[in-house]
Amino acid sequence: MQFNTKLLHGKSVRRYAEGATVPPISQVSAFSYETAEELEKVFENKAPGFAYTRIGNPSVDAFERRVAELEGGLGAVACASGMSAVTLSLLNILQAGDEVIAGSGLFGGTIDLFSDLKAFGVTVRYVKHITVKEIGPLVTEKTKAVFGEVIGNPGLDVIDIRAVSDFVHSKGIPFIVDSTTATPYLVQPFTLGADIVVHSSSKYINGGGNSISGIIVDGGRFRFAPDRYPGFEKYKKYGKLAYLAKLRNGIWRNMGGCLAPFNAFLNVIGMETMGLRMERICENAKQLALAVNKFEGVSADYPALYGNPYAELVEKQFGGRGGGIVTIRAGSKERAYKLMNALKYALNATNIGDVRTLVIHPASTIYVHSTQQEREDAGVADDMIRVSVGIEDTQDLIEDFTQAIFSLYD
Ligand SMILES: *Cc1c(COP(=O)(O)O)cnc(C)c1O
Repeated sequence: MQFNTKLLHGKSVRRYAEGATVPPISQVSAFSYETAEELEKVFENKAPGFAYTRIGNPSVDAFERRVAELEGGLGAVACASGMSAVTLSLLNILQAGDEVIAGSGLFGGTIDLFSDLKAFGVTVRYVKHITVKEIGPLVTEKTKAVFGEVIGNPGLDVIDIRAVSDFVHSKGIPFIVDSTTATPYLVQPFTLGADIVVHSSSKYINGGGNSISGIIVDGGRFRFAPDRYPGFEKYKKYGKLAYLAKLRNGIWRNMGGCLAPFNAFLNVIGMETMGLRMERICENAKQLALAVNKFEGVSADYPALYGNPYAELVEKQFGGRGGGIVTIRAGSKERAYKLMNALKYALNATNIGDVRTLVIHPASTIYVHSTQQEREDAGVADDMIRVSVGIEDTQDLIEDFTQAIFSLYD
């Protein structure tokens, strides 16, 4: 089955109650059983079933199964937000004194989170790019994970997943990737060796910009040896399922960052059109970047463009598709604002992966709390506009940006 067919007819797509073609919204907190014995079994994971929506819910389960299948993972755990997914994917394996190696081009919220983790004794060591050469010297006995974004948002660095996975595995460390911007449409990171995939499913998976959510998917291949990861002693017996079992029965359920059933439903509906949306979004993004680059005084960056340092990797790893983010350098902050304010269709909003084209000035918004150095390291320039390209007709989109660029000449 290819991508779009799998979205509609994969083995995770079940016949739901009464033959419903999409999973009904199980908008309920608790599930009752005939006998006390039955509920006991559910609580002990000895019988399938749901007890309480913070711990499991049929609509959420339907969403988790679909994402897990699409990524080729063993299973998935849905969270209240992408940030919750990023946080819990790491807290599931870390303890005080541990270190994580991460790319400095991360999403601003993730950088903020990593400074919060300091208070809990977790140190994050940054490299400019997640490459074998840069992470190699930082690996120590304390390193418990390497974390990176497949396509950096908004720096647009691309990770060679195969090369980095092979290296970190040789050091006994798992590779956790945030694949939000790449989406399963561009790449399934498990096929290239990544161990854990997280998504802000608020973005391209939902696709309509109508609910916040995140998801953690486990490939099930990394063995968390209890001498290096003491918390896994208790979960050894789960074998391949150890990471997921620990997450579900531990930090995820106890922190309470569960996904609401209604949002899970909206995600399932949204993700069924992910292939179609991504196809149009990638094409629009490329055409828009090419069009912008025809003008003097502005320049566009897009990973799939000829001449981009990652173009070859994009060809090899993503089949030439560059995702939905284009960045535009306008020459100064004032010119960036002028261009953004002149746009008719593109909305000025802090989100990506919507069907609508959105623009934002990252330096003065998402990175407003970062230091100048952090901004530089994240590839955020003062004259940079991030465009999250939507599914509008290509010609309309190009015309809108063209008239906005003309306004700079006034
Ligand atoms: C948006 C985003 C997040 C955070 O997700 P939320 O759903 O907003 O909590 C994490 N990583 C990346 C790459 C993102 O774009």
